[in-house]
Amino acid sequence: MNWAYRQPVTIFFGKGKSREIGRIARDQRYGRGLLVADPFFEKSGLARTIVDSSEGTLVGLFTRVSPNPEAEEVDACAERLRCQKLGFVVALGGGSALDCAKAAAGIALSGQSIRQYLGTGMPLPKEHLPVIAVPTTAGTGSEVTCVAVISDQAQGLKAPIVSETFYPACAVVDPGLTYTVPPAVTAGTGIDVLCHALEGFWSRGHQPVCDALALHAAKLVFRFLPQAWACPSDEQAREKMCEASLLAGLAFTLPKTTAPHACSFPLTNRFHVPHGEACGLTLDWFTRLNAAGEDGQRLNDFAAALGYRDARDMADGIQALKRQLCLRTTLKDLHLEKEEIRQLVADSHHPNLLNNPVQVTDEMLWEMYSQLAL
Ligand code: NAD
Repeated sequence: MNWAYRQPVTIFFGKGKSREIGRIARDQRYGRGLLVADPFFEKSGLARTIVDSSEGTLVGLFTRVSPNPEAEEVDACAERLRCQKLGFVVALGGGSALDCAKAAAGIALSGQSIRQYLGTGMPLPKEHLPVIAVPTTAGTGSEVTCVAVISDQAQGLKAPIVSETFYPACAVVDPGLTYTVPPAVTAGTGIDVLCHALEGFWSRGHQPVCDALALHAAKLVFRFLPQAWACPSDEQAREKMCEASLLAGLAFTLPKTTAPHACSFPLTNRFHVPHGEACGLTLDWFTRLNAAGEDGQRLNDFAAALGYRDARDMADGIQALKRQLCLRTTLKDLHLEKEEIRQLVADSHHPNLLNNPVQVTDEMLWEMYSQLAL
């Protein structure tokens, strides 16, 4: 088996670490930066505190970021960076704020629109601004990935853009920032972590370093996610979920995600199912499918290492976890018509589907969506 591993992000982890953002930026010799923050942190006052305590290192604040960030928000952020001749970006928020900032920093020096790169496969410009990523959900792992997921409602498009230039220079992971995440977001983002771990592990591009990270991350999710959800101020559970999110990000960024993520894009685009919940919706279905494939024994071994009898038993465990966290396990409430199911099948053919270890056919997708719709 041939493989390569690379991870260029410097990681700072620990409660209170976000208070060191100004120092970290100065150590990197960055000057005149923009804080790109989720609007929640403008309201909470944290964004202003970070700018004010940066001793002039951060000179502006941009908070026009929606969940599933839009291409036009990325372009507006890039325009601001260009017009003010800023030198770096601090990204504060969940995956949405981080991806918006990464994408804007990626195009800021070129004057182009991110639309040129969305779903086109065109390589991003080599010259880009550095990003310090500060995640506030656990999470997407975006702080250590070379991926930014951007939407363009006008085109009905939500797609990941992959670029070496999207790796942040630094990740500052402060579990204390996640204490305010409401239970429904904790549940959805937490199940996304499990998807990253499992999909990174079973991806056709899997490799040993990422496998080890995936296993550790999945163990942490099964053990600590219920507690982080039930008791948002549990410091240990929050810290362990941040650790899981980070490791799962490292576990999938090289192998890439697979079928559950491919299916999540139309579920979010068309029916506004939040990202993590949309990925988790099909995770147990694909666990069963992949367990029956040629590589099934790897998945059984993974499940056994987590204390399950086999992968099918783990699929039951995933289903039980979703029920416990009040996450969706069906699409019943959407009252899907046949035509809508047909459209979901067609729109699930995102390139990530090709990374799935078992080839996924239209018939399989039809069967899965029809079962979920019942
Ligand atoms: P999010 O960033 O969209 O945030 C969800 C909600 O939680 C928002 O309303 C936000 O205001 C709120 N929130 C965030 N942090 C909070 C906090 N500390 N306290 C209170 N509220 C808080 O959610 P997400 O799941 O982190 O990110 C989803 C996005 O990330 C999607 O677009 C998804 O496709 C993308 N994604 C990217 C990668 C990657 O590698 N780049 C990986 C997975 C997902």
